Amino acid sequence: MCCDLKRRFLLLYATQKGQAKAIAEEIWQQAGAHGLEADMHCISEMDKYNLETEKDPVVIVISTTGTGDPPDTARKFVKKIQDTTLPPDHFAHLQYGLLGLGDSEYTFFCNGGKTVDQRLQELGAQHFYDTGLADDCVGLELVVDPWIDGLWLALKEAFKLQKERESMSSDVDGVSSSLSAAPQIVHELNLSSEVQNLKLEDKELRSSDVLTQKLVDINLVASTGDTEPSLVRSVPPLSQSALNIPALPPEYIEVQFQDTHGENPHLSSLISEGTTFEVPVTKAVQLTSKDAIKTALLLELDIADTDFDYQPGDAFCVICPNNVNEVEELLQILGLSEKGECFVCLKVKQGTKKKGATHPQHIPERSTLKFILTWCLEIRAIPKKAFLRALVECTSEVGEKRRLQELCSRQGASDYTRFIRESNVCLLDLLHAFPSCRPSLNLLIEHLPKLQARSYSVSSSNLYQPGKLRFVFSIVEFPACPTRPVSQKGVCTGWLAELVAPLLHPNKNTPDTEGGSPSIEKISIFARPNNTFHLPADPSVPFVMVGPGTGISPFIGFLQHRQKLREEHTDWEFGETWLFFGCRHQDRDYLFKDELRCFLENGTLTHLKVCFSRDSSTAEVAPPKYVQDVIRLYAKEVARVLLTERGYFYVCGDKKHMADGVSDAVVDILSTEMEVDKLEAMKILAMLREAKRYLQDVWT
Ligand code: FAD
Repeated sequence: MCCDLKRRFLLLYATQKGQAKAIAEEIWQQAGAHGLEADMHCISEMDKYNLETEKDPVVIVISTTGTGDPPDTARKFVKKIQDTTLPPDHFAHLQYGLLGLGDSEYTFFCNGGKTVDQRLQELGAQHFYDTGLADDCVGLELVVDPWIDGLWLALKEAFKLQKERESMSSDVDGVSSSLSAAPQIVHELNLSSEVQNLKLEDKELRSSDVLTQKLVDINLVASTGDTEPSLVRSVPPLSQSALNIPALPPEYIEVQFQDTHGENPHLSSLISEGTTFEVPVTKAVQLTSKDAIKTALLLELDIADTDFDYQPGDAFCVICPNNVNEVEELLQILGLSEKGECFVCLKVKQGTKKKGATHPQHIPERSTLKFILTWCLEIRAIPKKAFLRALVECTSEVGEKRRLQELCSRQGASDYTRFIRESNVCLLDLLHAFPSCRPSLNLLIEHLPKLQARSYSVSSSNLYQPGKLRFVFSIVEFPACPTRPVSQKGVCTGWLAELVAPLLHPNKNTPDTEGGSPSIEKISIFARPNNTFHLPADPSVPFVMVGPGTGISPFIGFLQHRQKLREEHTDWEFGETWLFFGCRHQDRDYLFKDELRCFLENGTLTHLKVCFSRDSSTAEVAPPKYVQDVIRLYAKEVARVLLTERGYFYVCGDKKHMADGVSDAVVDILSTEMEVDKLEAMKILAMLREAKRYLQDVWT
C-alpha cells in the first residue's frame, strides 16, 4: 500500500455479551500490522463519532439478541437511522463493511446486523466489502476469520477509491458513480497474506509462529502409532504440516495479590443491565418422575418485598456461580490454592501492545481470587483460538505444545471444530489433557469471557399469585466423554438443582435441615425486559399456544392470568384458547398435567392437544408424535383462529427443530386453507410475525 494513503477507518461494535467487542478488538489489533489505524468505539458512544460526516471507511461488528433484536447498546443508533424522515441519500457518502453475529438456532438469524445493513443501504451507504454473517451455532470463527482476512484488501481498495474521490473533488457526481460501481471484494484465504501479517508483527514472535519445518518429533503421534486423531493426538497430514498460527495476543493484565481483608462486592455490582434483587426460593417441585430422561424442576421465588415486577411471558435472569469443585480444581492446577481468599488487584500492564487495553469490566476493582473464578469468568467457555495460541507459550512439553499450535492453526481448523468446539472442551479439560500447560492467572482473566446470567421464562401470573414468581427448567446434563471422564451438569441448572435439593427432599437429614425446616436459600435475579411475548391486549382475541416440554412454562403463566381475569371480569368476552403440548412419556414428563386439567374444566383452556413421542401405541393408526404433527390435524381451526379471527400464535420451547417444524406446519396449513402456493404462504407467515401475531420464545 502506498504510504501516503490515508489509513484511518472507523470501527464500530454493538455487543450484547462481549463477542462483537472482542472481534472488533481483534480487528483493531490486526489493523496495526496492516499499517492501518482503527478508530474504535462502541456504537452507543454516539458523541465520539459522526456517520453524517464520516469520510473514512466504516467497519461495523454487530451481534443479535433476543428474538432477532440488535443488542441493547445499538438501540439508540438503530432508532436514529430508522427515522423515516431521513432522505434516501442520507449516507450516500458512506462506505462500510458489516459483520453480523448470530445463532442459526434462532429464527431471526443475524437479524441485528441485517437490520442495520438494510437500513444503511436504504439510506444510500455503499458496501466496500461483502457483509459477513457468522453463526455461533457452528462456530463464529468459520466466517469471522476469513472475513477479517479479506477485510484488509477490501480496505485498501476502499482507501484507493477514497483517494480518487478526494482528488476528483470537483466532480462529485463522477466520483460517487465510481463508488457505486466498486466491486464488492470477496477474498480467498491467502497463506502469503497471513505470513505477511505475521511479518509485520514483532519479529521475535514471528520466528516461533510460522512453523515452516515439518515436525517429526511429535511423540504424541509417533509413540502411540494410533491412526485416530483426538484432542491430544494428531495424524498426518496435519501432524506433518507446516502451520500458520495466529499472532500471539499481547498480554495486558497484571495481577497483584493483596494482603488485605474485607468483603467481596455485592453481586449487583456485576450487572450493568439494571437492578438486581436477592430473593428467597420458597418452593421447589420436581415436575418429572424419577425415571424421566430429563429432570424438570419448578422453583418459586418470593418477590413480595421487592420492586420486581413482571408480566406473564416475560423472562428474567438468574446470576449463577461456577461449580465450586471446578473452581477449587482450577486453583489447584494453577498452583493458587493458597491464594483463593486473597484480594486481587488488576492493572493494565505498562507498555502492553494491546491497543486500548482496559480493566475488564466484568471483574470488580477489588475482590478475592475465588470470587473472580466463581462469579465473574465463564470457566466452562469453549476456548477460542487466540486463547489456545496464548496457552502454547505456557506449555513445556514439546508434543503438547505442537498439538496446541495445530489446534489454533489454519491447517488444524477442522480439528479445532471437532475436538474443541463440537466436544465442548473447556479450560479444565485442556489442562487435564495437556498437563504441562500451566497458564498464569492473568491469561485466564484476559481470555475467559464474562460469566453470563441465565435467562428463564416466568411460569406464573402476578395476578394469580401476587408476590410470587415461578419458573421451570430442565437440569442440563452432559454425559462423560473421552475428554471428560465424569458427567457434568449445566452451570446454572446444576447449581440451582443442588441449591434447592433440601427443599425437594425436606426430610433428608442434611446439615441445612438440622433441627427443622430447610434453610431458605436466596438467589439474585434481574429483569430481562423484552418483549412482545405477552397475552393479546384484547381478551376476546383467540390464541394458540405451542409449548412442548419446558416450553409450556410461560403458558402456565398465561393461563393463570386468564383464569384470574375470567374470575374478576365475568362480563368480559374471552377468546378461545388452544394449547398444543408434547413430551416423551405420558407418565414421566407430562408437566402440569393436573393444572391443565383444571384449566380445561373451568373453561380457561378451551382445547388441549397432547402427544407423547416415545410412548408405544397399539392403535391401528399411529398417533402423532410431535406437536407439529398434531397442529396439522387441526389445520382448519388454526387457520380460522389466525386468519378469520385475527388471533395470536405463540411458540415456546428449547429446540430449533421444534420451532422450525411448527412454522413449516403453519406454512402448509396457510397454503392449503388459503389455496396459495408455499411461497405465498411463507409471505403470509412473515406478515403475521411482523404484526407480532406469530410469536416465538425459543431457546437452545
Ligand atoms: P450451560 O452450562 O450454560 O450449558 C448449556 C449449553 O452449553 C448446552 O446446551 C450445550 O450447548 C453447551 N455445553 C456446555 N458444556 C457442555 C458439555 N460439557 N457438553 C455438551 N454441551 C455443553 N431454559 C429452561 O429450562 N426454562 C426456561 O424457561 C428458559 N427460558 C429461557 C428464556 C430465554 C429468553 C432464553 C435466552 C433462554 C431460556 N432458557 C430456558 C435457557 C436457559 O437460559 C439456559 O440456557 C439453560 O437453563 C441452561 O443453562 P445452564 O447454565 O445450566 O447450562
